[in-house]
Amino acid sequence: MREYRSYLAHTAGMTQKQQNINLPKGKEGGTMKAMVLEKISPIEEKPLKLVELPRPVPGRGQMLVKVSACGVCHTELDEIEGRAAPSKLPIILGHEIVGRVEGLGSDASKFKKGDRVGIAWINWACGKCSFCLNGEENLCDTAKWTGKDAHGGYAQYTVVSEDFAYRIPEGFTDAKAAPLLCAGVIGYRALRLSGMQDGETLGLYGFGASAHIVIQVAKYKYPRGKVFVFTRPHQKEHQDLARKLAADWIGTTRDTPPEKLGCAIDFTPVGEPVREGLRNLQKGGRLVINAIRKATPIPELDYTEHLWHEKEVKSVANVTRRDAQEFLPLAAEIPILPETQEFSLEEANEALILLKEGRIRGAGVLKIAG
Ligand SMILES: [Zn+2]
Ligand SMILES: [Zn+2]
Repeated sequence: MREYRSYLAHTAGMTQKQQNINLPKGKEGGTMKAMVLEKISPIEEKPLKLVELPRPVPGRGQMLVKVSACGVCHTELDEIEGRAAPSKLPIILGHEIVGRVEGLGSDASKFKKGDRVGIAWINWACGKCSFCLNGEENLCDTAKWTGKDAHGGYAQYTVVSEDFAYRIPEGFTDAKAAPLLCAGVIGYRALRLSGMQDGETLGLYGFGASAHIVIQVAKYKYPRGKVFVFTRPHQKEHQDLARKLAADWIGTTRDTPPEKLGCAIDFTPVGEPVREGLRNLQKGGRLVINAIRKATPIPELDYTEHLWHEKEVKSVANVTRRDAQEFLPLAAEIPILPETQEFSLEEANEALILLKEGRIRGAGVLKIAG
């Protein structure tokens, strides 16, 4: 493990002077382990490096959180490989963070030491622009994203504004709660934007971390509806999980389902399911694309076949605090049972390689030892 004494000065946006003043000194646990991204590169080159850093110090209105679990999200692959590059390097990735409040900055009073909290993708928004004022802080031009603009949870500690942390309901272990914070929250947003009504048929393209949570929400909220699942042909584990979660039909991306879809959500990182999803929509149907970037282009669309008859297509960008605040209690009420595959912090590269290969059943989670 490499040691970076001067690292935090630029990684946490602090001056050297502040660093000298604020950082805990000595041997009484003033450092932390983190898996850090220094350079954009293919995940196969294992670009995340284990380093030892000074623990961050909470500023005004912020909290120091001791991380116990952090979900592994496809967005990390987009960041690492440069399709959605972080705004600064080096950076600590990870935005599905569960941990306990360990320290409070000045003026932070919403939580107390020891509280279990979650941190999601939205890290900060301005609160003043037209988007923020309309409850669309996910579209705020100056918003910051956890693990992209601010350090995330691939580490033993992180800091966050108390306004962008959530209480985690009882009943979930830390590891089971982690994927709720991105895969769950954004899946919930996508389902909301799909406009699904009870009795409609929902198509899910891709059946990974997010979709396997969405099917549970859809089955609970729309008991008369049907859910059809489309995977890549070799994804037998995903198909088995879909069957276990009571999918009404399971096929592969290019299949034509037994009936048209009232709405569909595309969770895949590639372009083709957009065309396939539009093809399978019924008249007036809606396709929601839940991806930050697509690794391959969307194939050419035929207007008559894919768009005519008032078909709609919409993307999902980011999440709002409201999405998290609504979804977490709902997840406990249902209750959602996230399928998780656990890794250690040091295995983050390996977990992301498996994710890229579509070989994680459910959601990957880093369990972070104290
Ligand atoms: Zn995510
Ligand atoms: Zn704003």
